[in-house]
Amino acid sequence: MTFKPFLSRTDCRFIDGCWEPASGGRPLALIDPSTGKSLCEIARCDASDVDDAVTSAKASLAGEWGAATAAERGRILSRIGQEVLNEVDTLARMEAMDVGKPLTQARADAVALARYMEFYGGAADKLHGETIPYLDGYTVYTLREPHGVTGHIIPWNYPMQIIGRSVGAALATGNACVLKPSEDACLTALAFAELASRAGLPPGALNVVPGIGEEAGSALSAHPGVDHVSFTGSVAVGKMVQAAAAAHVAPVTLELGGKSPQVVFADADIDVALPFLVNAGIQNAGQTCSASSRILVERSRHDEVAALMAERYRALRTGPALADLDLGPLVSDAQKSIVEGFLAKGSSSQIVAQGEIVDDALEGGAYVAPTLYAGVDPEHVLAQDEVFGPVQVVIPFDDEDHATAIANGTKYGLVASCWTRDGARQMRMARKLRAGQVFLNNYGAGGGVELPFGGRGLSGHGREKGFEAMYGFTVSKTVAALHG
Ligand code: NAD
Repeated sequence: MTFKPFLSRTDCRFIDGCWEPASGGRPLALIDPSTGKSLCEIARCDASDVDDAVTSAKASLAGEWGAATAAERGRILSRIGQEVLNEVDTLARMEAMDVGKPLTQARADAVALARYMEFYGGAADKLHGETIPYLDGYTVYTLREPHGVTGHIIPWNYPMQIIGRSVGAALATGNACVLKPSEDACLTALAFAELASRAGLPPGALNVVPGIGEEAGSALSAHPGVDHVSFTGSVAVGKMVQAAAAAHVAPVTLELGGKSPQVVFADADIDVALPFLVNAGIQNAGQTCSASSRILVERSRHDEVAALMAERYRALRTGPALADLDLGPLVSDAQKSIVEGFLAKGSSSQIVAQGEIVDDALEGGAYVAPTLYAGVDPEHVLAQDEVFGPVQVVIPFDDEDHATAIANGTKYGLVASCWTRDGARQMRMARKLRAGQVFLNNYGAGGGVELPFGGRGLSGHGREKGFEAMYGFTVSKTVAALHG
């Protein structure tokens, strides 16, 4: 399978601006989850490829890329954004076939990738240090410097958006990147490298090493030449990555999972809330770190909200990614088994609605019907653990304190929302909810690239997106001059 004109080979690593087979020479098959059939082969990089990539990144910092001014870096990123925009439809199709995402949602990811490049292109020359009032005779100021070589290990659920937010911010601040995409989703990472190169990004500033987590991923997180690791993925692997990077004391940003609540008070405008309540759970078939998998509703309106959500669930259609329905398949059979395992733990009497899998959903595809539970105990596994599939639970609460205790009652803390017309309560809840982002009378705020994002607790630490990511991808240096 080729995706000409701009991605003619899928089975290569991209290092120092060159496409070459991985050193081990054993390609991996990429499966189309809509059909269960093989889509193409990708490179299976190992520690030696990662080593080459780190060497190339380091060399680029000593060469053309390291010498580029902030304004020049910004200009290149802006041009990459334009290249991405020119290829939005091809990128969307590629992603849809690779991960099973409905075309419209994949297209939105491609546009978001372009938007990240525009944002970080514009921000590249806006980051500066400070002057600090100090003792007589001194002038003290801070410089913000890139870490150096940054490693980016990313998952399969939103490859383009996560490349945009982490690689975009790292390049804008002058780092050189080594990107390890997921073994379940490599194509848009490779396409991005091709487009970046076409836009004039110097060789070595971005290297891509597709492969298996235990091979390329662990080699990247443990590599002593990597000065900062940005990891997005599961809690279990995040802990391993942090431990590996700790061996050479490299800083790590962890963007992990979630069990994000929407808290609906009885005075909320339910008509406005309803599409947010459902869409936040089923977008990308629920395979979203910030999916809202818990809907907390004040007891007096619990049954009404559950019934209104159920009506919407019954209209949801699941089918092949290219059919562009409400939901596509899950990313893989393995993910389907995980989700089915969770469904088996739920009480069938609490299922209030399921969506439909359309007749022409292809045999061999990883389809799961979206499923809504109501009246669920907040301690139940479906209300505590990240399912990472199209499953939501509705939970009743009695008052503000009870709602807060349930909302904050998991080990995660990624995002949360609160629906109420009471302005004072909005302000109280925004402070009380344990999360990296809180939404008042909305959910997700359209996912704006400008909005700092990250977790508390098992959802991770560090912030990506927005201007704040630029601090994360730089270190400050204090300069104190004694001049009398
Ligand atoms: P995963 O942890 O299995 O894999 C993520 C990446 O880590 C992949 O590239 C994988 O190859 C690599 N990896 C696997 N084992 C490794 C190892 N031993 N050392 C180094 N790297 C290794 O996660 P996934 O299944 O791809 O993605 C789903 C998870 O990602 C969910 O938990 C989801 O919540 C989370 N996620 C979080 C965010 C966020 O911003 N907070 C965004 C998207 C996804």
